Amino acid sequence: MNLDVTWAKAWIRTGANVMSEHRVELLDLDRAIGDGDHGENMDRGFQAVLAKLDAVPAEANPGDVLKMVATTLISTVGGAAGPLYGTAFLKAAIAVQDKSDLDGAALVALLTAGRDGIVLRGKAESGDKTMVDAWTPAVDAAAAAQASGADAPAILLAAAEAAEAGALATEPLIARKGRASYLGERAIGHRDPGAQSSALLLRAAADTATQG
Ligand code: ADP
Ligand code: MG
Repeated sequence: MNLDVTWAKAWIRTGANVMSEHRVELLDLDRAIGDGDHGENMDRGFQAVLAKLDAVPAEANPGDVLKMVATTLISTVGGAAGPLYGTAFLKAAIAVQDKSDLDGAALVALLTAGRDGIVLRGKAESGDKTMVDAWTPAVDAAAAAQASGADAPAILLAAAEAAEAGALATEPLIARKGRASYLGERAIGHRDPGAQSSALLLRAAADTATQG
């Protein structure tokens, strides 16, 4: 499908369903190395987003959808993840704001701005065992795919696969940011919940781009 407002809505609708389906998995991950609320935070935030999705007009741009997601997550999700995802979606929205159809370069700009927003807000570096460890490989893979001439769905697929590998690769790490950093070596062996939810969200983007 063209990566227009219909795709942006489909991505976010699928993302909301995926957060519901994976609520318990994300709760369990956060119970192991945090305070056990990440699945609840993400599900609550995306259900609030879902309730507002139909009100976004058909003549809006993808960036308008991303902006609504940002403001809704910031106002409904407590904890670290709300402001982090909120900033990601806000910066992503700004990066593509006047475009009605996203080409490969716009997608790379969207993902890069999202990742940069998370880093701006949370000051985490790669290897700190946070959602950045899913986003940065995703951005790098998307940029490499775009440089080699991949189309938009293939760019998103590369991003999703890299995010999943990045989330998996958080398992052996010691956390240096967020609540998990209080655990020291006890965080080893557990996947970072925010990296996992980020991978799920990027997989939803790729899945919806390949359909239709
Ligand atoms: P809280 O930690 O306040 O309970 P959540 O459980 O919803 O919030 O989110 C936890 C996730 O937030 C972590 O798994 C991690 O990916 C992410 N996170 C926490 N602090 C940071 C940070 N400074 N930078 C990037 N991501 C972070
Ligand atoms: Mg938590």
